[in-house]
Amino acid sequence: MSGMRPTGRLHIGHLVGALTAWVELTTSADAYFEIADLHAYTTSYDDPQAIRDARDELVLDWLAAGLDPDRCTIFLQSALPEIAELHVLLSMITPVAWLQRVPTYKDQIEALGGEIATYGFLGYPLLQLCDIAVFRGGRVPVGRDQLSHLEFGREVVRRFNFLYGPTLVEPEATLSEFPAVPGTDNRKMSKSYGNTIDIADDDATTTKKVRSMITDPNKVRKHDPGNPAICPVFALQHLANRARVPWIDENCRSGALGCVDCKTELAETLNAWLAPVRARRASFDRTKVAAIVAAGTEKARIVARETLADVRRAMKLVP
Ligand code: SF4
Repeated sequence: MSGMRPTGRLHIGHLVGALTAWVELTTSADAYFEIADLHAYTTSYDDPQAIRDARDELVLDWLAAGLDPDRCTIFLQSALPEIAELHVLLSMITPVAWLQRVPTYKDQIEALGGEIATYGFLGYPLLQLCDIAVFRGGRVPVGRDQLSHLEFGREVVRRFNFLYGPTLVEPEATLSEFPAVPGTDNRKMSKSYGNTIDIADDDATTTKKVRSMITDPNKVRKHDPGNPAICPVFALQHLANRARVPWIDENCRSGALGCVDCKTELAETLNAWLAPVRARRASFDRTKVAAIVAAGTEKARIVARETLADVRRAMKLVP
């Protein structure tokens, strides 16, 4: 079980990180992938149209990365009221202090200057738990920064099972360490920095973005020696042009290779590497996406209803 918020197009950092891990997961597990639109409302509640528009784009990027809807379940969070109901029920037994001490909550509140002090934002990790618990998710692929969320969720499950009897499954983390992918400005690749190379970009856009990338600032003229270790162009060469990395390293350091030529090579290899991904993306349209999500959501609903029936029974919420 995993998911993403529909907040914009995905980039090549997602492609070599989470999405590759997801595709692998579908070969060995009954995998569920959630379009976490309710989660998007915790921070972007004032822009519902953007969330709505981003939903299809998100699924197109997943399909482009190789998720096969015949081998996994892709579903829409808000179309399953069972998740929202479980959230209400679990909120009855969740101490507020447990939520307040989740490190990402404290970090975000500080980073955003207290702008998002809503009840829903505080409850973000509980809603995440409900996404997992409603499918009795046993394994959750997470990055190290999400471990505290999962540990919080495990505590809530233990508390529920202690109070009402063994009903919910304690999720286990499958730690996924993804390679760090720098953006065009050498900060972490992130939509919020505007430094991404997107899966859905066309070749010309990718080339333009690569041309604008910063390089070693001390390599001013073509034949100045450079330091690839601090250059994001060099870092991206590892993704799509691995065989040429030793040659680029040597010739950058000696001054034989200029940045313009280096970037031209990167743009060409990135576009060749992304060509099958982009072709897959183009082979789906919004009608197909809607059908995939509708079928996945109906499949997910069967499991979610069974879990909710057990939860309601355990809590004596029966007529
Ligand atoms: S030659 Fe390539 S690796 Fe070296 S600084 Fe320029 S862009 Fe970076």
